[in-house]
Amino acid sequence: MPTHSGDPSRTTPAPAAAPVSQPAAAPVSEPAAAPAPVSSAGAPSPEGAAAPQCLAAPLARIGFDRDGLHREDLAPSGDDVRYVVSSGASISVADGPDGVRLALEVTDPRPDPSHPLVYLGRLGEHRVVAADVPEPSAELDDPGRDLRELRRVAAQLSHEEAGIALTAVGMGAWHRAHRHCPQCGGALAPESAGWVLRCREDATPHFPRTDPAVIMAVRDADDRLLLARNASFRGRFHSVLAGFVEPGETLEGAVAREVREEVGIDVEQVEYAGSQPWPFPRSLMLAFRARAASGSGALALQEEEIAEAAWWTREDLVPALAAGRIALPGPESIARALIEDWYGGALPDAR
Ligand SMILES: [Zn+2]
Repeated sequence: MPTHSGDPSRTTPAPAAAPVSQPAAAPVSEPAAAPAPVSSAGAPSPEGAAAPQCLAAPLARIGFDRDGLHREDLAPSGDDVRYVVSSGASISVADGPDGVRLALEVTDPRPDPSHPLVYLGRLGEHRVVAADVPEPSAELDDPGRDLRELRRVAAQLSHEEAGIALTAVGMGAWHRAHRHCPQCGGALAPESAGWVLRCREDATPHFPRTDPAVIMAVRDADDRLLLARNASFRGRFHSVLAGFVEPGETLEGAVAREVREEVGIDVEQVEYAGSQPWPFPRSLMLAFRARAASGSGALALQEEEIAEAAWWTREDLVPALAAGRIALPGPESIARALIEDWYGGALPDAR
């Protein structure tokens, strides 16, 4: 099972710490005998309910007005339209007095007007349209355009701009990879402001897809954390386990299967902890906490996938990081958020 290309750079930049958000769904509460005060779904849990908290994962807080009810056939045009330019996994940005901002262009940036545009939504007074342009070249690229790898700059953007940039890159990847109908091979034509591709031959509509991937912090009975070094990881890089969800599988089932396949133990108490979009090219990271099942025994590694794995105490982890014997995902990744959730605070960055 590919662990997401096993790429240690599967890290995403981190905005400043933000408040931990509550799970969207509040626990179902017992109907009270007396009329209970009306509480809205998603209201904070009552004190002492000990509802699991969602991770303060860096890109979990992004969001913007997608204006999904106004995806007309064509991308909008007008004075309030601004273009966001992506190229592969890079996005056009500008350095401002307050740091890195998305570069919003006033004129249609496409070198070829047959390239699709995607209406992303509203940002302030602007309607924002994404244009994915080919790899920059000396002749074609606007010399003033500063294209940077999104995973490296996302955290420096506002939550709204990060959401727009992640959507632009994800939609760009979808359009690049879907030129022909998977049913009949016919050419596809964009509709709904770039959110639908319809086959010109058999008229089937095709929609952008997201691949769910689970990532999980597994603890044992002594509250030690399982960290593993994927065979494809460089150096001393360790992380929590991760893998893609398979068709017909629940998220909890995927967590249990991946842990069983990769380190040979069973888990229980699988609990959702948060999510993070990862459109490189089209994943959604779903984070979980889990416990090693009692009596699960010793770790048995899947050799071609996992180079090493071990249970770590908090006391052992910090000196190992300080001595450079182990390196962890960057402070911006959801993997790091899971590890620090177990640790109970920020860990020193030994990278
Ligand atoms: Zn077709």
